[in-house]
Amino acid sequence: MNPIEIRIDNDSKKIYFKGEEYEIGTLLLSFVKEVSSADGSGKHPYIKHFGQSKTTLAKARKLYDENIVKCLGIGLEESRKTKELFRKNNEPVPRFYRWQHSKSYNHSLDKPVPMQYQAVKEAKDSYRLYETYIVTDLLELCYVEFIKMVQLGMNVRECQNCHSYFVPKREGDVKYCRRKPDGGNRTCQQIGARAEFQAKDTENPLRLQYLKIYNRYYGRYRSGSDDIKITPEHFAEWKEQAKEIRDKALAEDWTVEQLRTELKMALETIQSI
Ligand SMILES: [Zn+2]
Repeated sequence: MNPIEIRIDNDSKKIYFKGEEYEIGTLLLSFVKEVSSADGSGKHPYIKHFGQSKTTLAKARKLYDENIVKCLGIGLEESRKTKELFRKNNEPVPRFYRWQHSKSYNHSLDKPVPMQYQAVKEAKDSYRLYETYIVTDLLELCYVEFIKMVQLGMNVRECQNCHSYFVPKREGDVKYCRRKPDGGNRTCQQIGARAEFQAKDTENPLRLQYLKIYNRYYGRYRSGSDDIKITPEHFAEWKEQAKEIRDKALAEDWTVEQLRTELKMALETIQSI
């Protein structure tokens, strides 16, 4: 047993673990989803501190993966009953409803986790109220963070790019998280937006035609031989016009041939001046 004190600030939704500050939910969500069960390196702050056995790790992961989906998930796995009652009519699901009605939420601790309040002075005449818990193992730790997420009405989604769980910053149709997967430079939001844009491009024959010509001219501007090369000025001007032509074609439902001719003519006109 290696007890540790964690502090929670309900107002700012922050959890303080080993001197570090995290958004509530971050540690639990990354624990159940990002850190695979095969990862024995223990880089996650929770595992690092408690160094639990593989069995305990697997148990905690499975339990909270299920509880998160059943009690906090939006569009993850919704029971038929909840769907019928709320989602069908686009009504918000009342707080604690999923938790109360989730059959799989059957978790309780062997003993209560002791908690006390601390008012900490932040500035002159300004105090912040913290809840301080003494936790003695990984399951207690997960429990405290999970219950906090329930209590604070936090909703969880699964990122459609990296498949990690995340808490969306705003309401509405948020499909991607803000992590940068696989050590890359782009966030899942950026990767997802790009993929959707490209998918949209290839679905519509007019967009596809525009893209083909754009890529051809871009190639000629970047590395064409002297007789077909497009100057940077000409390309920049054509690019602007091409966007307008494309939008007009989409709005007026042109034929692919018509769009191709217009895009080509625009370049010829620019080059002839
Ligand atoms: Zn993601």
